[in-house]
Amino acid sequence: MTDPTSSRAGFVAIVGAPNVGKSTLLNRMVGTKVSIVSPKVQTTRTRVLGICIDGNAQIIFIDTPGIFSPRRRLDRAMVAAAWGGAGDADDILLLIDASRGIDENTRAILQRLTQSKQSAIIAINKVDLVKKPILLDLTNDLRSYDVASEFFMISAEKGDGVADLLTSLGSRMRSGPWLFPEDQISDMPQRLLAAEITREKLYLRLHQELPYATTIETENWQEREDGSVKIDQIIYVERPSQKAIVLGKGGRQIKALGEAARHELEEIFGQTVHLFLFVKVREKWGDDPDRYRDWGLDYNA
Ligand code: GDP
Ligand code: MG
Repeated sequence: MTDPTSSRAGFVAIVGAPNVGKSTLLNRMVGTKVSIVSPKVQTTRTRVLGICIDGNAQIIFIDTPGIFSPRRRLDRAMVAAAWGGAGDADDILLLIDASRGIDENTRAILQRLTQSKQSAIIAINKVDLVKKPILLDLTNDLRSYDVASEFFMISAEKGDGVADLLTSLGSRMRSGPWLFPEDQISDMPQRLLAAEITREKLYLRLHQELPYATTIETENWQEREDGSVKIDQIIYVERPSQKAIVLGKGGRQIKALGEAARHELEEIFGQTVHLFLFVKVREKWGDDPDRYRDWGLDYNA
């Protein structure tokens, strides 16, 4: 532990439109995967804590689902969780995708922050994708909202600018003892993280509407005497036709999915993993209150 007379700690919510790189940045700062990432929007469904230490500061990040105009019940719950995360935090880190600029979703977030007189640290991400003049124009446009207390240019994927951002956030944390043990990096239970890893592989392999029609649960977690772990997971889909797609011809799709998930689980948990995936049809799981509770989302948002 650090000297309590000089230690600092606090919460920072990472908010932004879908796909701007919030989860990528969180993983980069924490140094390992705590939040899953895919090129698809709305990959993150719930609030994820990632805990990070910079010098004598403990910075507790809240990764949030993206903020967008919600349509489905699950979407509404996700957006509510995102704003809830922002409300719980000491500081807000607003992430913007340099290659997309101020799109409709980002504009709505900026307006809401302006109206509620909340300031945010703005990080322009994916600077690896654009040229300098674009960044200057974007920064100027952003200044007109009067939201930013500070600007950073980063690439969450490549790591550029991330150390400076961390140091700055660390210096903003209030003096006080650390809030989590030194070696804790997340508050996500292992079973949920394991289900999330499989969901990430599914998002990377399956396309169109299918990923959004699936949810994954870890049913059984059995530590074995030889140090390995047996994990049973159920992939829920909404229709029998979707089940056939997840299984693939001759079970090839689910086999590849299981392989990819198992590799990463072994890396994260540092032990041999025996992963068993099952596919079940559960109509309208998106309207099942139990799912929302598991994810820490508000069903009635
Ligand atoms: P989130 O929805 O805001 O959590 O975004 P994700 O972290 O899931 O990232 C969305 C996509 O953007 C993924 O394909 C990432 O690999 C990609 N991405 C994130 N950060 C960067 C970056 O700095 N540069 C580039 N080129 N791509 C990035
Ligand atoms: Mg995310």
